[in-house]
Amino acid sequence: MDQASALMLQRYFREYYFKRADNIKAPSEIASREFGYFPFGGGMIRHLSFNEVGTLRALLVREAPAGVYCSNSLYQDPTAEMQKKEWIRAEPIFDIDADALKLPCKRAHDVWRCKDCGRSEFGIRPLTCPTCKGNKLLEFTWSCPTCLEGTKKETFKLLEFLEQDFGISSSEISVYFSGNAGYHIQISGSRLDRLDQHGRSEIADYLTGTGVMLSNFENSKLSPTDPGWRGRIARYIRDIPVGTPPFKTNELKKRVLEIENDLKPAQIEEILNSAVSSNAIRIDAMVTADIHRIFRMPETLNNKTGLVKKRCANLSTFDPSVEPIALPEEQDLVSLEVDMCPEIRLGGVKFGPIRHELNVKVPIFLAVYLIARNAAKITLPNQSTVVSPAALRGNSEKISSTN
Ligand SMILES: [Zn+2]
Ligand SMILES: [Zn+2]
Repeated sequence: MDQASALMLQRYFREYYFKRADNIKAPSEIASREFGYFPFGGGMIRHLSFNEVGTLRALLVREAPAGVYCSNSLYQDPTAEMQKKEWIRAEPIFDIDADALKLPCKRAHDVWRCKDCGRSEFGIRPLTCPTCKGNKLLEFTWSCPTCLEGTKKETFKLLEFLEQDFGISSSEISVYFSGNAGYHIQISGSRLDRLDQHGRSEIADYLTGTGVMLSNFENSKLSPTDPGWRGRIARYIRDIPVGTPPFKTNELKKRVLEIENDLKPAQIEEILNSAVSSNAIRIDAMVTADIHRIFRMPETLNNKTGLVKKRCANLSTFDPSVEPIALPEEQDLVSLEVDMCPEIRLGGVKFGPIRHELNVKVPIFLAVYLIARNAAKITLPNQSTVVSPAALRGNSEKISSTN
């Protein structure tokens, strides 16, 4: 990142922490948690501890870091090295990210760039560059309203699993927009806090449907009202539309008899795989299993976007393109040199798609987003200017020429 763009990003973060540090709340049992942060252009500083949130806020105002993190684990000594911290317990965390959903819209908005010849295009990264045949291709993933809606749906599916299958009450669950392209779901004060890594892996396997087999079930008694995966598979088989092969019948009971007596193993496997994949939750299983991570703190800024990691008090009505904007009151326009940006929506602005344009004028929150995503840099005052075509719609505008 060029220096002018990096400085602008840093200034924005500094202003955010100066104005909004009070939004950052103390996690429960703050003194038992490990904190970490990394400054712009620097490495992670971990194994920190705070007895009260005021000291943390003061650090954020002073340092304006690029990222701020806190452990979901509690330790006897959070400042010790990992092996000597003496783990007490950890709140289970689930991470749902748009990229893991592998939705078809990725083809429209992801970007790749060839490191050898510099060619860049929208779409899924090819194995080799069509121009120079080089194989050093960088991939830039983006998210669109479809992706964000997809992650929200996945989060609702997870909440249903947690409440129905694990008996977690909704008051124990907090949902956060990650500040980028998905949601973090955290459970506080439940029996699951004491689970070790192995137990957490088992939960992740259960949620992702890993190892679910029809032979695990006594098929003839499958009922849509069964708990857990049994009920989900029964409802899936019941709801397969009338006349869909390989089934010749339409009722669940008769279809189960077909599975037991008539269908080939490959057909049964295909039905089960579809039942599992339509019910499984696309969580990052590594995140759930790991009890020694530190996670981005709520109300701090995501360095990959300049957006806030935001608590969703009401997930149904939460708008990830509006609510996470750090300083919505700041509407100054910034002139950017934009590289490759697909169509995006942020703060009521519909922007792009853009391929290599100079002097694109956007509100500061959008400038911060594009710079943080490495898709743009600040136009320097002495830079030569060209008229840029209308690619920006909504409430922002473009400048034509400055000289
Ligand atoms: Zn190339
Ligand atoms: Zn998308």
